[in-house]
Amino acid sequence: METQSLIPESGSKVKLADYNADFVGGYDKESAKVERAPLEERLDVLQEILYAQGAKALLIVLQGMDTAGKDGTIKKVFEVVNPQGISVTSFKAPTENELARDFLWRVHALVPPKGQIGIFNRSHYEDVLVVRVEKLAPREVWQARYEHINNFEKLLADTGTHVLKFFLHISRDEQRRRLEARLQNSNKTWKFNKDDLKAREKWDDYHDAYEDVFRLTNTPNAPWHIVPANNKWYRNLVITRAIVEAMESMDLAFPKPEKNLDDVEIPE
Ligand code: AMP
Ligand code: MG
Repeated sequence: METQSLIPESGSKVKLADYNADFVGGYDKESAKVERAPLEERLDVLQEILYAQGAKALLIVLQGMDTAGKDGTIKKVFEVVNPQGISVTSFKAPTENELARDFLWRVHALVPPKGQIGIFNRSHYEDVLVVRVEKLAPREVWQARYEHINNFEKLLADTGTHVLKFFLHISRDEQRRRLEARLQNSNKTWKFNKDDLKAREKWDDYHDAYEDVFRLTNTPNAPWHIVPANNKWYRNLVITRAIVEAMESMDLAFPKPEKNLDDVEIPE
């Protein structure tokens, strides 16, 4: 059965319409859970080794349309991991102070230190997504940013931070269902934001902007995973697997103990 997220070829053109947000690779909710259980255990262990070794970091970028499941992913995929080893940053519209600097200033300050996993709930990609679609900056400003982003992510990779980027791909119909659920469920209405409807009207513009992101910033240093996300259980399986696979490739190992521990006796 297929559990891979879809990693477009570096530099190639991506049409999101070719990606099926309903794809579940032959799984159902139960079998996806069974498949994910050992991966969750492994993720917990790998995080502990990352922390103990203290030599490398992992940065996970989560992007997607409103209701795509960025918050749910953070809650579900990382519930098995020691919170001490994780930081989560949710990027909102920049403050005046942040706007007075270059767009990566606030982002760079929040990348995880060695030994940690950092999760970005939205990220520097908003600076070529919402900024482009809502015309918050002139074209020449956001157009120059793809190169800045690639250089920034290369700097991170060169200095020991592995970068993984996930686009949570939901369909327009699924977004309507999730927005309706937010309106109907009193525990979810706080999440309803009328601005989300404005962004929904610009669905195609956002998808165009995302397609350029995949074409221009899908580098070997920091690959994009397009995750079929209409089904939350499949999304969680795909993301957990991709993180475990990435961490398995990071040469993580517990540090060697101090020498001559054999002679050590713990005093009464
Ligand atoms: P939420 O993720 O629902 O809490 O919403 C956060 C909002 O902040 C979204 O509407 C984003 O588009 C917006 N946002 C995040 N980063 C930026 C940015 N760099 N420029 C403008 N808006 C942003
Ligand atoms: Mg929102």
